[in-house]
Amino acid sequence: MSKSFSRAEVAKNNTEASAWIIIDSIVYDITRFAGMHPGDATEAFYDLHRHEVLEKFGPKLKLGQVEGESQKIIKMNFADYSPVPYAEHPSVVGFKSPYYTQKHLEYRTVCRNFVAKHVLPDALACEETGARPSKELVKLLGEEGYLAARLGPGKHLKGLKLPGGIKPEEFVTHLSFVSKLSVVRVMCRGYADGNSGGMVIGLPPVFNFGSKALKEKIVGPVLRGEKYIALAISEAFAGSDVAGLKTRAEKSPCGKFYIVNGTKKWITGGMYADYFSTAVRTDKGITMLLIERGEGVRTKQISTSYSKTAGTAYIIFENVKVPVENILGVENKGFQVVMSNFNHERWVMCVGSVRGTKSIIEECFKWANQRKVFGRPLINQPVIRQKLASMVALSEALQHWLDHTTFQMNNLSYFEQATKLAGSLALLKYQCTRVGHYVSDNAVQIFGGRGITRTGMGRVIEGFQRTNKFDAILGGSEEILADLGIKQAVKNFPNTRL
Ligand SMILES: Cc1cc2nc3c(=O)[nH]c(=O)nc-3n(C[C@H](O)[C@H](O)[C@H](O)COP(=O)(O)OP(=O)(O)OC[C@H]3O[C@@H](n4cnc5c(N)ncnc54)[C@H](O)[C@@H]3O)c2cc1C
Repeated sequence: MSKSFSRAEVAKNNTEASAWIIIDSIVYDITRFAGMHPGDATEAFYDLHRHEVLEKFGPKLKLGQVEGESQKIIKMNFADYSPVPYAEHPSVVGFKSPYYTQKHLEYRTVCRNFVAKHVLPDALACEETGARPSKELVKLLGEEGYLAARLGPGKHLKGLKLPGGIKPEEFVTHLSFVSKLSVVRVMCRGYADGNSGGMVIGLPPVFNFGSKALKEKIVGPVLRGEKYIALAISEAFAGSDVAGLKTRAEKSPCGKFYIVNGTKKWITGGMYADYFSTAVRTDKGITMLLIERGEGVRTKQISTSYSKTAGTAYIIFENVKVPVENILGVENKGFQVVMSNFNHERWVMCVGSVRGTKSIIEECFKWANQRKVFGRPLINQPVIRQKLASMVALSEALQHWLDHTTFQMNNLSYFEQATKLAGSLALLKYQCTRVGHYVSDNAVQIFGGRGITRTGMGRVIEGFQRTNKFDAILGGSEEILADLGIKQAVKNFPNTRL
């Protein structure tokens, strides 16, 4: 039972020998830092620290509570739904949705609780140190069905356990959306990629284009989190222009193997991967091969501006013997395999980007309300409200476009998706990263110095401004996607005139 104190009693403890403070009606003994926090320090504390500091150190320093007073500041745990305007998907704050039902809400709660308990601590630690995401955690993600859920609906889910007891045949893209959102909310971008981001793009070529035997060998262990896979397309010679790749595969004289020589650059999760879905040059085109880590395969970490925990790798293939059975699709027709992967990859990135902007808007709202400048909260400045208005308007519009696109992914046939969705999805990703850039820029201005300070109040803003550019390059850069969107739009342009 917590003790009660009168404010007069607390006020007596104002010496170096005994210094007590009040934060939101709770009394803390801070004798160790006497002089820094006199009396009721609620305002001063929240000017200096994020609430998580109180959660971490408060229990050790807490003495009791001011009598007759109660806490007024809403304490939010990671799994809680935010009461901050525009911080959540509209469907969780009481708006009716044609896409999301009670089942989605329940699923969201399951995912959030799981991420809060298991993923968040690992993410915060690894993002900071650059360490590999915990193997035990990845196994747990596999056992509980979270790895499979990130790949969206499809035959690959058959017979698998999924989060929240959802049956594989009932799993829809909106649920995959929800699983992805829960992970993005940790706002550790390098970690989100390092913890199975390579699998999200590297495994589909195997289950969509691999032989039965290859699928049996690879898919199960990867989805159980026992083995790791990455997608290896890009090279120093070929990024946007995939057709320029130089890694070569020659058939061995016995005809049983491809002998692969070459390099790959910026391969997400490549440092941890046991398998690489790899694009290589063959006789008459590009071919996709599943290459296993082994003799002749070397990986080196590439340092980028996000955390090393992403496992971004430079790969060297030196006379690697790859069984011909490891082909994904048809020889010389690998370009189709590469292209077919893009819709889902780009959609995943849009989900991450939209959730990221929502988290940034939430931080900005909180900060603008608590930060006092020139004697009044920052939110009282019209310029700040204008910035928030434009950020919210852009982010909300994107959310609705994304929901519409997600619905199409569930309901259009594979062929229709390729013809109708590829262009608009390219434009959606382009717009997501333009908005991400705009939101990041304004958020830094709202936070001031803290927005470019790695720890403390602006931690989330600083991380976003350092990493939101990744989405503008990976999976098709802004320029390429804008161009693709318009090229697709004019492909079958009607013979019409003004
Ligand atoms: C952290 C990180 C992780 C990655 N993960 C993976 C991965 O897992 N697997 C993988 O295969 N690849 C991965 N990539 C590679 C990524 O897909 C490429 O970086 C991307 O496709 C762009 O290629 P590039 O960097 O070579 O840029 P380039 O192709 O050299 O382009 C440079 C600039 O020129 C612009 N540009 C290019 N062509 C045109 C044009 N026709 N018109 C107008 N502008 C143009 C581009 O938009 C870009 O801004 C990753 C990259 C990074 C940085």
